[in-house]
Amino acid sequence: MAFAEVIGDPIAQSKSPLIHGFWLDALGLDGRYERQHVTSDALKAYIDERRGDPDWRGCNVTMPHKGAVMDLVDDPGDVRTTIGAMNTVVRRPDGQLMGTNTDAAGFYAPLAESDLAGAPVAVVGAGGAARAVLFALARADVGEVIIYNRSPLKAMGLLASFGLKGEVRGLDAALAPAALLVNASSLGMTGQPPLDLDLSPLPDDAIVYDLVYSPLETALLRAARARDLATVDGLDMLIGQAALAFELFFGQSPPQGRDDELRALLTA
Ligand code: NAP
Repeated sequence: MAFAEVIGDPIAQSKSPLIHGFWLDALGLDGRYERQHVTSDALKAYIDERRGDPDWRGCNVTMPHKGAVMDLVDDPGDVRTTIGAMNTVVRRPDGQLMGTNTDAAGFYAPLAESDLAGAPVAVVGAGGAARAVLFALARADVGEVIIYNRSPLKAMGLLASFGLKGEVRGLDAALAPAALLVNASSLGMTGQPPLDLDLSPLPDDAIVYDLVYSPLETALLRAARARDLATVDGLDMLIGQAALAFELFFGQSPPQGRDDELRALLTA
């Protein structure tokens, strides 16, 4: 039976098996998607073993393997020189392994209808998720990007590597009047300090996008809704990146019109 997996260390928290399992059931496909605890020491052996299994369609890759796995696939495409992190490995029928990153497209999918060309954007964070966000924003040809981050040097490096115009500010600086505000930091996540921003500089038609999905209703999104701003939560990106991986693994698009059911399952 065809199967795919999500690997990481730790891995118990991953919601990917719920998402892919829901789609497999909904489509009546004969396939499985499971979580697999793989430590850094065991990563190469895992990939070598799975490569020989024709039923294995590939895996999603989460922390801490998104960098190391780039050295273990046959065809990493342009992932290393662009986003610099790989979240999906696909086994071709000839046993060759292809790697890609579906996070950037997953992030951008909910914004596809918004015209952000030339628009000013504010991004909080400069870690792995921010890389995917900035890659997608550069592709969308946005205007000036202001990154707010605890470690300014890291953020400066990101602006330069994605060829974006903009600047870096500390987390205590006032927010710029951006058309889109993205929280790509861990702030607001369960167990982390909240992201405490004064949203008043944002224009009334601004979009506030929080990548955090645990909790789903963050203080940032609450404040944005209180101001009647458009919001996008972290589940949209999670489902978006999973949808692209599902097509690569199982050769079919996820079922249409079932997102409300899936979201209910993920938040139960
Ligand atoms: P990461 O690589 O560890 O980066 C964490 C970022 O948060 C860095 O910018 C870090 O600042 C900042 N940060 C962490 N703790 C902080 C603190 N106490 N004070 C100030 N800044 C702090 O993590 P990541 O993989 O980018 O993930 C970031 C968030 O995105 C997480 O909540 C994750 O769940 C979420 N995410 C969501 C999706 C989705 O599909 N919705 C996908 C990926 C990630 P420094 O640079 O100064 O360390």
